[in-house]
Amino acid sequence: MKYLLLIVLLALLFFILGVKRARPPLSKTPEGQRGQGAKAGPQDMVRCQHCGLHLPHEEALPGAGGLFCGPAHRTAYEEAHPLNAPADAQVGRGHKP
Ligand SMILES: [Zn+2]
Repeated sequence: MKYLLLIVLLALLFFILGVKRARPPLSKTPEGQRGQGAKAGPQDMVRCQHCGLHLPHEEALPGAGGLFCGPAHRTAYEEAHPLNAPADAQVGRGHKP
């Protein structure tokens, strides 16, 4: 019967230690995310710059001209709107005089 009490105490100790270890990273992450974009609501919705589709910010793909719903639309937008693309990267792509 004493062993049972010991096991329970050990389990409680590990549980408390586990909670203490798990807390600091959990409390840090939401603060860091809220500091960047403080908007109301559980998820920030953004628009694809190419097709206008609304999607969660986490799923959006950041590109040169904004956020996109996928790599295909990012490429399409960047080809249509070359902002600060390096000249070397654009050489082989058509706009040659
Ligand atoms: Zn899109």
